[in-house]
Amino acid sequence: MATFTQLGLEKNLLQAITDMGFETPSEVQEKTIPILLDRETDIVSLAQTGTGKTAAFGFPMLQKIHIESRTTQGLILSPTRELCLQITKELESYGKHKKGLNVVAIYGGASISDQARQIKKGAQIIVATPGRMKDMIGRGMIDISKIEYCVLDEADEMLNMGFYEDITEILSHSPKDKSTWLFSATMPKDVAKIAKKFMHSPVEITVGSKNVGTENVSHEYYLVNARDRYLALKRLADANPDIFSVVFCRTKRDTQKVAEKLIEDGYNAAALHGDLSQNQRDLVMKSFRTRQIQMLVATDVAARGIDVDDITHVINYQLPDEIETYTHRSGRTGRAGKSGVSMVIVSKSELRKIKSIEKIIQRSFTKKEIPSGMEICETQLFHLANSIKNTEVNQEIEPYLPNINEVLEGFSKEELIKKVFSVEFTRFYNYYKNEKDLNAAAGDPSAGHNPDSVRYFINIGGRDDFNWMSLKDFLKDLLSLGQDDVFRVDVKDSFSFFNTDKKHQDLVLSIFDDFKLDGRNISVEISKDGRKKGGGKSGGKGRKSGRRSGKSFDGGKPNFKGKSRRRGQKPSGKGTGGKRRRRN
Ligand code: ADP
Ligand code: MG
Repeated sequence: MATFTQLGLEKNLLQAITDMGFETPSEVQEKTIPILLDRETDIVSLAQTGTGKTAAFGFPMLQKIHIESRTTQGLILSPTRELCLQITKELESYGKHKKGLNVVAIYGGASISDQARQIKKGAQIIVATPGRMKDMIGRGMIDISKIEYCVLDEADEMLNMGFYEDITEILSHSPKDKSTWLFSATMPKDVAKIAKKFMHSPVEITVGSKNVGTENVSHEYYLVNARDRYLALKRLADANPDIFSVVFCRTKRDTQKVAEKLIEDGYNAAALHGDLSQNQRDLVMKSFRTRQIQMLVATDVAARGIDVDDITHVINYQLPDEIETYTHRSGRTGRAGKSGVSMVIVSKSELRKIKSIEKIIQRSFTKKEIPSGMEICETQLFHLANSIKNTEVNQEIEPYLPNINEVLEGFSKEELIKKVFSVEFTRFYNYYKNEKDLNAAAGDPSAGHNPDSVRYFINIGGRDDFNWMSLKDFLKDLLSLGQDDVFRVDVKDSFSFFNTDKKHQDLVLSIFDDFKLDGRNISVEISKDGRKKGGGKSGGKGRKSGRRSGKSFDGGKPNFKGKSRRRGQKPSGKGTGGKRRRRN
């Protein structure tokens, strides 16, 4: 592995690198920096989010500009204000030992005359969003006729946001013989097009998926009916009590709507999208960084500026229109050496997109089941147990203890535990006790819509190594039925449900009348509550999830690390009872 010195960087930059605590160059830096230092060339450099692309173009640009001149020599175009500011800040710290360096950020939503004034002082490097940049060039406030280097950063995202025309316009004011450096996480058609149009035989560099960003991220999808999307989101949140997540929606409207619903349901959530004022956005980001907000619901564009390191889950509430964008989303978690999960809530019609994404990220997805209400109750209970275990006793409580003890006198430890846990548990239990299974059966186009079908309960499930697909195959082979004759197969841990048309009812019951699998009696009954649970409207007006509202993530609830698994008792419900495995 190379060192920064070996890459050919000058002393003042190496000093800054040491100051910042960077030890070794990242892969994209190692591959890009020597080429850019060595010659004047165009370059296309593809590497995922979080791999250190800013320094890959920032160091060479700082080394190559003439610091004694005040002429603008470098232009960096980037998609959002947040990124603009982030890059500017990074460049300033890389160049902190370069006397006279002036990097100016140009972006919309702030005073144009202030920005013009800063430019007038002489900026060797301008970092800009395309819209404001075009505007200022048009007004004669910025001259880029002498730039030598132009960086198109996050090119895929700029094109996604519709900046193609602006970029074309801006570049028409720049010299033909400059070098263009394009950085992108992905290479969709539009980026290839822009490379072809604006660049001359660029060097191409691709950094494999071997970056911290993706290696630590596992990808999961949850198949639900489109109308159950929101309920599924809530379950995923409830099943992960320590969640600190970004929830991605496709449009500003959905972003706002989902955030509002979450807040109404008592979650620490907020929306982040382009319709908010800059001030509002800054506030939201501040609350997110300090973990006052546990679920940040965001559009792709707004989320680009998020540089928060310990996001535990990325939730794709909807998949992006451009599947390449998925890479950016999942790259928000699994940063800085931590592991993360990227979850996709997907409806049947979008299922094929999962395959396309797998091709792009070169990783496979795990199909997961939305946890049942009772599994969530169990998770929450263990979470609480651990929280109690790990809570540091606050000494200030001493003076109040005698009175508390008096009230609780006479209860045994067992009784106290039951009571304490019930306080918390009942909230979730009441909400979830009648909730339906949200998992959609993938093979079944008529899921839940056939009134002439019969729902059965069968006492085999995930524990017997069945998933919905293998159980469906097993049943249709056994019953000699066709592909679509067994449907709505819901596999639980120790039991499952499935449907057939009413006309097959006698066949099913007679075959399972006396049936053994590996010596074990397999029984099938017509499900009594299956129909009601499976088809009924869920939720119930005004019922809230177990969360208390208005509680800060750090403030109210103790922060517990790690969950332990003990034998769980099933609070209620049909089935075989006994030990249950937790799914998350
Ligand atoms: P990208 O543009 O590829 O998404 P960034 O340039 O924003 O990534 O870098 C991500 C983070 O990694 C930043 O906080 C940056 O300071 C840090 N970083 C960059 N290069 C290194 C390095 N060689 N060693 C340690 N940290 C680095
Ligand atoms: Mg970047």
